Amino acid sequence: MNQVRIREIHTGRQPLGECRVSGWVRTHRQSKNVSFIELTDGSSMRGLQLVIDPSLSSYAAVAARISTGCALSVKGNLQQSPAKGQCFELHVQELQLVGEADPEKYPLQKKGHSLEFLRELLHLRPRSNTIGAVTRIRSAAAMAVHRFFQDRGFVYLHTPIITTADCEGAGEMFKVTTLDAANLPLVEGKPDYSQDFFGAEAGLTVSGQLEAESYACALSNVYTFGPTFRAENSNTTRHLAEFWMIEPEMAFCDLQGDMEVAQAFLVAIIKEILERCGEELEFLEQREWSDKKLVATLSSVVASRFEVMDYKEAVAVLEQSGRSFEFPVRWGMDLQAEHERYLTDEYVKGPLFVINYPKEIKAFYMRLNDDQQSVSAMDLLVPRLGEIIGGSQREERHDVLLQRMREMGLKEEDYWWYLDLRRYGTVPHAGFGLGFERFLMYVTDMHNIRDVIPFPRYPGYARF
Ligand code: ATP
Ligand code: MN
Repeated sequence: MNQVRIREIHTGRQPLGECRVSGWVRTHRQSKNVSFIELTDGSSMRGLQLVIDPSLSSYAAVAARISTGCALSVKGNLQQSPAKGQCFELHVQELQLVGEADPEKYPLQKKGHSLEFLRELLHLRPRSNTIGAVTRIRSAAAMAVHRFFQDRGFVYLHTPIITTADCEGAGEMFKVTTLDAANLPLVEGKPDYSQDFFGAEAGLTVSGQLEAESYACALSNVYTFGPTFRAENSNTTRHLAEFWMIEPEMAFCDLQGDMEVAQAFLVAIIKEILERCGEELEFLEQREWSDKKLVATLSSVVASRFEVMDYKEAVAVLEQSGRSFEFPVRWGMDLQAEHERYLTDEYVKGPLFVINYPKEIKAFYMRLNDDQQSVSAMDLLVPRLGEIIGGSQREERHDVLLQRMREMGLKEEDYWWYLDLRRYGTVPHAGFGLGFERFLMYVTDMHNIRDVIPFPRYPGYARF
């Protein structure tokens, strides 16, 4: 007999009649005439109500050992439910206790647990409603990302995880070495990495962008979607040491084209989540930490006009706002979250691209504008969050790029291959980056980034 997932039942795809369902017990209520079990298999927000005649022998034999968290496999007759609020119930004909969960020891009882408590039990927390919902949304979002790019002819690119190139000279790289820390070979007092596994100082990637550029300058449109690492010692609710990043890169594309793709991308992914994960979103919106505006915000982003504003204009708007910000506004500063929130939440009341930032606060690879002061960069700001996407047109002119690298103290020889892309068949190109977990926080209304990735890594913690 076919084993069915509970989701198939609730979506009405499973015909009434005989079927087999397997899952874990949420609640078990016994009485003289009838017993009820709510079973969940993680395929849906909703569990399935099992209706059992207590005299059923396969049930009676194990009833005392059925408790929250134990695993069951049951055969029964699927029927429309007469009870209010639930459409289907399974009248059990045969029940098998697959795996017990000693109620004296099982840490997840049916009452709700705090997210802090669940973070101590990363291996069991997927059984909670909240983490289950977030995990299904994460999966749907990842699929939507691939669908968006694949439908537009982008090539999925796997960039290296171990590298000897530090993308932005950020110095936040985890080192990768096989040298013996207790017995380091030294030259002039420094570790001799020429004796190391890769013959040079290596680390875990902080971004796949530069490598993506090399493939865009051959395959035209590519995207990466992979793990990224930052050894930043910032114990915040927005930073992980290991996170996932999505970085499309497009040849023959300028800042305008970049913004068009970024907007279409964000709208498409959110739309798909609204369509596929409606129950999850409604559930998450009812959590006690939610301001109950999740679905409304996401729906409004999808329907919004995306405004565009020059950095210069943004600074003027902030100066004229009459607000006293914690970080005072002046030209040349990087916009802080409070500034971004004012611009998007209160000023334009919708998504907003801020473009043409001063070159001093942006990376060396961003294309210098004709004013020689600003670069063709864009940040996409959304209500309730601020920056969600950052991107730019890349500097495709060899000499300008070299000049910028020198200004910023980067070594030409470290970037010889990157400069080669500007020597041979160089073209205007552009791209952007989206931190997947930051995006997930936005669409799930989870306030701690550690709750939107299955096994978070952060300072002092990489267990499981
Ligand atoms: P922040 O100022 O928030 O630390 P950043 O300026 O260091 O971000 P970028 O270097 O531009 O970020 O990285 C691109 C994107 O990757 C960011 O917009 C963000 O979504 C995500 N990101 C950066 N650092 C982290 C991190 N430690 N954990 C999770 N996501 C991150
Ligand atoms: Mn950072």
